[in-house]
Amino acid sequence: MRPQTPPLIAGNWKMHLTRAEAGALVQAVVQSAPELAPAKFVLLPPYTALAEAAARMAGSAVSMGGQNFYWEDKGAFTGEVSAPLLADAGCRYVLVGHSERRHLFGETDQAVNKKILASLRVGLRPIVCVGETLEEREAGRTFDVIRLQLEVGLSGLNGTQFASLVLAYEPVWAIGTGKTASPAEAQEAHAFIRTRLEEKYGKPASDCAIILYGGSVKPANAYYLFKERDIDGFLVGGASLEAASFLGIAGEAVKAYKEVQ
Ligand code: PEP
Repeated sequence: MRPQTPPLIAGNWKMHLTRAEAGALVQAVVQSAPELAPAKFVLLPPYTALAEAAARMAGSAVSMGGQNFYWEDKGAFTGEVSAPLLADAGCRYVLVGHSERRHLFGETDQAVNKKILASLRVGLRPIVCVGETLEEREAGRTFDVIRLQLEVGLSGLNGTQFASLVLAYEPVWAIGTGKTASPAEAQEAHAFIRTRLEEKYGKPASDCAIILYGGSVKPANAYYLFKERDIDGFLVGGASLEAASFLGIAGEAVKAYKEVQ
């Protein structure tokens, strides 16, 4: 049986929070992080708050990530930021293939692949999101969709590169809707993803892979989700905007984690 890794709790703030609001939220997470050990935290502020967030988390165990970027390192790409610019701003992680990027802005699996490679080149750890829409689930295509997203998204990645990745299963129908996948539904998808990773990178690598669940995670459901053996943490949207709910989720995950140690 694979050993469960300490919970990784990532907060995707999307297009929310001013610099002052972001600074206060980072401070609250930084202050509570030691009590929530061994949980690890990644906060994903909007670009405008990266500098403020970086200053407030300096020297703490909390890390920062970007929400998106363009795969070229530099150039005439008005409105875009690059992986080197995110790294320079203090990011250690970056989201790739979030469903809002895929469905609202047309991000393809090929673009996901280019972004993963570009982020790894500068030492950013990509948090790669996969997941099916409601229509795809109802048509019985969930696993076909995830298989293709993994196949194309991770194409050309060797084992060393793969070891830096974080995966996130985010059923699109559960994001921002208040509907959560049941622990059993989430576990089924996570186990499917881990098996695909095992086929590609072998068992030791797939056992160590971190696979987050995302989709309306709240303190009330975090414990039961984290109890599932292939769920290693959470990618949290709405509930990451308030310290109490974000830290509550982390507390529930740590409780579930400690019970199996
Ligand atoms: C997300 O944005 O990745 C997400 C999971 O959002 P929410 O928690 O609001 O469903």
